[in-house]
Formats: sequence, structure tokens, C-alpha cells
Amino acid sequence: MNQLTTDLNQLNVQFEDAYPQDVLRWAAESYGSGLAVVTSFQPTGIVTLHMLSEVAPGTTVLTLDTGLLFPETYALIDEVTAKLNLNLVRVQPEQTVEQQAAAHGAELWARNPDQCCALRKTAPLDNALGGYSAWVTGLRRDQSSSRKTTPIVSWDAKRENVKISPLATWTEEMVWIYIRAHELPYNTLHDQNYPTIGCFPCTQAVAAGEQDKRAGRWMGHVKTECGIHVQTGWSA
Ligand code: SF4
Repeated sequence: MNQLTTDLNQLNVQFEDAYPQDVLRWAAESYGSGLAVVTSFQPTGIVTLHMLSEVAPGTTVLTLDTGLLFPETYALIDEVTAKLNLNLVRVQPEQTVEQQAAAHGAELWARNPDQCCALRKTAPLDNALGGYSAWVTGLRRDQSSSRKTTPIVSWDAKRENVKISPLATWTEEMVWIYIRAHELPYNTLHDQNYPTIGCFPCTQAVAAGEQDKRAGRWMGHVKTECGIHVQTGWSA
């Protein structure tokens, strides 16, 4: 076990019962301008951004603008950015949707969503994160079976930086209690049975009572993740 793994293990033990604000404060003090928050403005992200605005205002916030977001999402991004005075950077793909259609055919997402996500999400984010030593995500353990072992701090081997999930131990209920208590804006599509919200071609409403919170994503495909949150070099 190398020193980095030992340090991460110790931090995870220390942070398992910590408040997310304490994790964010540690991250901001440890990495300074080398820290970025990555968010798609979903509920956990909104909570994270609100906490960040109190703990470390001015921290860089990256969001992926694939060019294929819902109008409700674009409106929410503008509203939260203004309300919390975010230092927001909109990360965009190399190609517009039209350029991608010309190069790869129309509606690539319907034929090859992995390639589409690689072009419009993972590659642009990898490039954007190249300049940062650490990044904050909104992953929670209760979001899906593939996320149930999410550590609070881990080594992102792909991007060679530290990945931090301050709300990993929170539940969906805790997130919504926080949003309501602080009267924070949220995506109104959640009130129309969209549990998670990504690009409009790949996101659908789900039946009432659906337990799998990612069931509405990439319906008709085995795909459940866009590829941003690949397994990393974490060990515990
Ligand atoms: S979520 Fe769908 S539209 Fe968005 S990048 Fe991935 S495949 Fe393309």
C-alpha cells in the first residue's frame, strides 16, 4: 500500500461521519485554485453549490453544456449561478450538435450513445479537468448499485487527480430536506417524474414508484452511466 492510498484511507475514515461542509472546507484549503466542482445542477449538485457558496465562494464550478440539455436545465443553471454568484465555466464539446451530425450522422445518441457521450461529455470534461488537482462530484451511494461503494475521497487514475464526493453518505431524502429548508431552486422536471436529468434525447420520465433512480436514462440501452464516473484507483 503506497503513501497516497494510506492517506486516502485515513481521510475516508475521518470523513465518513463528517458534515459535507467540513469535507468541502478541507478540499478548498488543501487544493485552493486547483479545486473545481463538477455539476449537472441536479439536486445533490444544488446542495453542494449552496454549501460551497458559504464555505469557499469563488471556487471554480464546471458544468458540461452538451448543447442537448432541457430548457428547464438551462434556466436552472442561470438561476442558480445568479443566486449563488457562482464562478461558472460552461464546458462545451469540440463539435456543435450540427457538426457532430455531419461527421457521424444524425442522432448519434440513438445508435451509439457511448460514442456520443465520449464526444460530448467525457472528452470535454477530461480536457477541462486537466488543469485541476482535485474535483468535487455529487455522487451518492444510494443513487444506484454501481455507486453504493462510492468513497468520499479517492484517486482518479484516469485524470490523475483527487476525486471528492462530499455527499456520498447522504440519502435522496436528506438532499430534498436541505433544498426545501434553504428554499433552493431545483429542476422543475423532477416534479414530472424525472428522477435524474441529463440530455433530453436520453432522459425520460419514469413510472410513479420506480425505485431505480437512473431508470429514465438511456432507456432501451444497457448503458446506465455516461462514462464520467469510471472506477478509479481507489482501494479500501
Ligand atoms: S446523454 Fe445522450 S445526447 Fe447526451 S452525450 Fe450522452 S448519448 Fe449524447
